[in-house]
Amino acid sequence: MRPKVSGEFARIARYFAPLAAGHPGARGLRDDAAFLSWPAGQGLVITQDAIVAGIHFIGDEPPADIARKALRVNLSDLAAKGAVPFAYLLTLALPQGSGDDVLAGLAAGLAADQQAYGLSLIGGDTVSTPGPLSLSITALGRGDQPVERSGARAGDLVCVTGTIGDAALGLDIARGRDLGLDADDAAFLLARYRLPQPRVRFGAGMARLAHAGLDVSDGLVADLGHLAAVSGVDISLDAGRVPLSPAARAVLRRDPSRLPDLLSGGDDYEIVLTVSEGALPRVSDVAAASGTPVTVIGQVLPAHGQAGLVTVGDGAGGIIDLPRLGWQHS
Ligand code: ADP
Ligand code: MG
Repeated sequence: MRPKVSGEFARIARYFAPLAAGHPGARGLRDDAAFLSWPAGQGLVITQDAIVAGIHFIGDEPPADIARKALRVNLSDLAAKGAVPFAYLLTLALPQGSGDDVLAGLAAGLAADQQAYGLSLIGGDTVSTPGPLSLSITALGRGDQPVERSGARAGDLVCVTGTIGDAALGLDIARGRDLGLDADDAAFLLARYRLPQPRVRFGAGMARLAHAGLDVSDGLVADLGHLAAVSGVDISLDAGRVPLSPAARAVLRRDPSRLPDLLSGGDDYEIVLTVSEGALPRVSDVAAASGTPVTVIGQVLPAHGQAGLVTVGDGAGGIIDLPRLGWQHS
């Protein structure tokens, strides 16, 4: 068998091994596999998400931001399960002929986020591809009380972190659409699309309080539908209570017809959780302690026929029809 070209090992040693220095089980990325020992009874939560140029990001972003987004979408999944991240594996498909500047940029972005979120690279794979750049990350977290999607109970309140719809508007801006915003608002929305803010600290704190949780990646209404369906319940969402950023409000002032786009747009990476009314004060404490805004946006209802129905109220007794969404089971 032909030995690997030395350049490949040299690149892993140069750009990725430093990212593995914080975890002894990674063996400096010089072994075939990583080694973890695990205390009996401790929960391990694992998730994997891949992002591909041209599909999950545009492709002209700085490599550091692309790498951070790849990591953060995984951290968002762990946060929604109440798990605390500690390690990840990275599979990188590099377009043929990619230069070292791409690797250096990716590694710099990962280094920054490893520091911010307290985790280490422990392994992965590097392949070259005739196709677009893609990064697949497997993230590992500790979670003794994992929050499932399926635990919502009729009578629960539905809460969401942060603000909804910013990333959908940011994608518009990234694609060159003029939303008529001032430069600050446009920059804010673009950043919300490019760099999700996974709610890691909030997630760890809410684990004991939430009956159900998921991270909002497909769009708020669609994701509420996913949660409702697996929980065997329906959900009523009050659109008037959905938290919107000042920049998103500025868009709506100019064009109120965009509200459904905000409620159904993807890439928010906020957390939806359902809690009993009695737990709400403790959720507020966790929100305050972690610096995470949390808003009650709806209620869990008993299933009306087939579970999974999401009704979107306009706050004035009417129903907002979101006909373009495939989420509604009818
Ligand atoms: P093998 O052929 O034995 O799978 P590789 O050359 O693929 O070996 O990988 C050698 C080491 O480098 C392994 O420890 C692997 O986990 C690590 N590695 C390779 N690519 C990456 C990457 N993109 N990120 C992190 N670790 C990597
Ligand atoms: Mg390999």
